[in-house]
Amino acid sequence: MDATSRTLPGPAPRTVHELRERISSKRCTCEDISKNAKPCKHPHKKVFEVCNNKARIDRSYDAVELADQVIYFIESAGVEESRDQVQRIALQELKDMARFGWIDGKREVFRRLGWKNGKNSVSPYDMEMLIECLNELFFGSTLGVLFKWVEGLRDSDGRELYGCCSFMEDHILIRMDATFFDNIPNIPGKYYGRALSRLGTLLHEMLHAFFQQYACVDCARVKLGFGGHGLAWQMAGNKLEKVASQLFNAPIDLSRFNSYRCDWQHLQELPCGHWLDAWDWKEDLLRERVEDTETK
Ligand SMILES: [Zn+2]
Ligand SMILES: [Zn+2]
Ligand SMILES: [Zn+2]
Repeated sequence: MDATSRTLPGPAPRTVHELRERISSKRCTCEDISKNAKPCKHPHKKVFEVCNNKARIDRSYDAVELADQVIYFIESAGVEESRDQVQRIALQELKDMARFGWIDGKREVFRRLGWKNGKNSVSPYDMEMLIECLNELFFGSTLGVLFKWVEGLRDSDGRELYGCCSFMEDHILIRMDATFFDNIPNIPGKYYGRALSRLGTLLHEMLHAFFQQYACVDCARVKLGFGGHGLAWQMAGNKLEKVASQLFNAPIDLSRFNSYRCDWQHLQELPCGHWLDAWDWKEDLLRERVEDTETK
């Protein structure tokens, strides 16, 4: 779509409800988008090749088809009978980290992940071990990711960020802010809120990493959106949140609506109600969580 035909989206909606109200009179555009989508000049590979080379960068897949691929990995992590051997071991390791993380071992990664300053608590090496487990469980062991703690992480508009994911030619680098996190309450006897916030951020960035590693660059703007939080990422993110929350028995939030809002001024097209239904954003998750812990 060229600059002249671009519909200006106006100010970002503050809530999902407000967005729904605003688009309620908008006619469905799902079909138009698929019909009018220009074929990509880059030939896409049709069948995703799973291989053991972690450093593989192969940006030759359609982002929406990639979303289906990662949803398949995530779904099989969520169903006991579907898990393969690698997923079973990874899940057990993560559950051990999570179980001992709060109550017992001071040295366990999950417990330290809940400390105030990430940089002084969990080494990049330990973060990369955690990333590897999540990679095996949810991403078919297809990610080649390095990790770094930073302070004062901001986007190009100067907004503070929990994390970001950068393409570095031969690998993907995830950076997370050591001292900035979502204010999620602790779940007594179980998880630190800060650990849950960081886990949500990490999965959010790993999902970006998957698309950065494999999605066709030529059509990524259309299918992933300006900041990477568009159609393909939202579809997979919704599934990842649900399955991860179920496996960790705790709310794992990828901050999907808020991230979409941050990209708002760059939207080419207001989302259709059907997209909102499929993405299933939760209204004000944070408040629900606070009330939950107060009543128990
Ligand atoms: Zn529609
Ligand atoms: Zn393409
Ligand atoms: Zn993001």
